Amino acid sequence: MGTRERVAAMMPSLVESLERLVAIPSVAFPGYPAEPVERMGHQALDLVRAAGFTNAELMPVPSGYPPIYAEVPGPPGSPVVMLYAHYDVQPAPESQGWTSDPWTATHKNGRIYGRGAADDKGGLVAHLGTMRIFEGRPPCTVRLVVEGMEETESNLPAFVLAHPELFACDVFVVCDMGNLRVGDPVLTTVLRGDVACVVTVGTLQHPLHSGVFGGPAPDAMMALARLLSTLHDEAGNVAVAGVSRNPWTGGELDEEEFRASADLLDGVGLAGSGSLARRLWAEPSISAIGVDMTSVAGSSNVLIPQARAKLSMRIVPGSDPSKELDALEAHLRSHAPWGAHVEVERTKAAPPFACRTDGPGYAAARRALEEAFGKPVEEAGNGASIPLLGTLHEVAPRAEFILWGPEDVAASRIHASDESVDPSEIEKLIVAQVGLIEELAAQPGRTA
Ligand SMILES: [Zn+2]
Repeated sequence: MGTRERVAAMMPSLVESLERLVAIPSVAFPGYPAEPVERMGHQALDLVRAAGFTNAELMPVPSGYPPIYAEVPGPPGSPVVMLYAHYDVQPAPESQGWTSDPWTATHKNGRIYGRGAADDKGGLVAHLGTMRIFEGRPPCTVRLVVEGMEETESNLPAFVLAHPELFACDVFVVCDMGNLRVGDPVLTTVLRGDVACVVTVGTLQHPLHSGVFGGPAPDAMMALARLLSTLHDEAGNVAVAGVSRNPWTGGELDEEEFRASADLLDGVGLAGSGSLARRLWAEPSISAIGVDMTSVAGSSNVLIPQARAKLSMRIVPGSDPSKELDALEAHLRSHAPWGAHVEVERTKAAPPFACRTDGPGYAAARRALEEAFGKPVEEAGNGASIPLLGTLHEVAPRAEFILWGPEDVAASRIHASDESVDPSEIEKLIVAQVGLIEELAAQPGRTA
């Protein structure tokens, strides 16, 4: 039997493993019970051991939930492939509007619904299937890390820095992404960075009677609103001088699919102009993610003296977080109306990430993915940032990064209600991962 047939034959048991994993609400956020996350760690450990990662262990960490780590040595001198997934999930509160129980894997329209079915228990199951094909004896060294806190304050970057030798590899495979739509293979090659600041606008020394002074005396909330409105042009494109933008030549997103996956309210249009893929992956975006001012309940007839907003700006691959923040800060300081006082406090500067696409590992992954899906591979970006990648790049500077996974953008609704996965995506990914490992095994090792 070829790989494809063997993977198809093991899918029923892999789906059963996925169902068992989805049933455990492994939410690692503060305030959620620890017991299910710990149970999930042990359940995942049992499964990875049974799949052939026989020496897998939950690794001790100073705080938080432990990552699972394993290494299965290949022939001496063979390349090292490291597989990544995470066993924690986003919360699934009832207020999100689930139509089936998030903690019961539910089969509907050929998909499997449940929190974590795609992100990232689907990715974990893909690794199980990959190792099972090799029956515990892969043709090159395979390392595995499955972390337990990806969706919250991850402890993995600190663990990597404390144990860099565990993470030396030629190719690092992050199975926590997805195709744009089912059946159309993509490799994610760029991730935007994420910077943030708090802008405080002041107009008055203290609250004033809105009847006696309102009109000539400007209130701070109106000043803040005017200031924020200058960050975009009429169409909704970022209008801050000096922020970086890139061209985009990879895959394109369908506007209808994007609207559907974003669940926009009826009649709400998309902001910005031009290619949707470029807007998401090659242009900056600025969002107000928090506001402090007098609340509606606490309001009276007084002018608001001070108001503040937290701004999150996604920055493009290749850009420098501090330079992008310089541009944003200069804009905020120079655009306040009526001479309002502006203070800017920087709170975050996470760099963007771009995968090397000219190496032998990337070429092998591309061929393996193309073969598995029977279609040409497109490149895509992701608007989210993964701080772990920067840390790994630090400790394994020559490693190539392969970003793929079962979380198709069009329908899987990760982090939202009715998250789901198409099992055919997991099946083809396993075929691709097996193909990648086999092809790398034929290449000389590069870490030694
Ligand atoms: Zn994830």
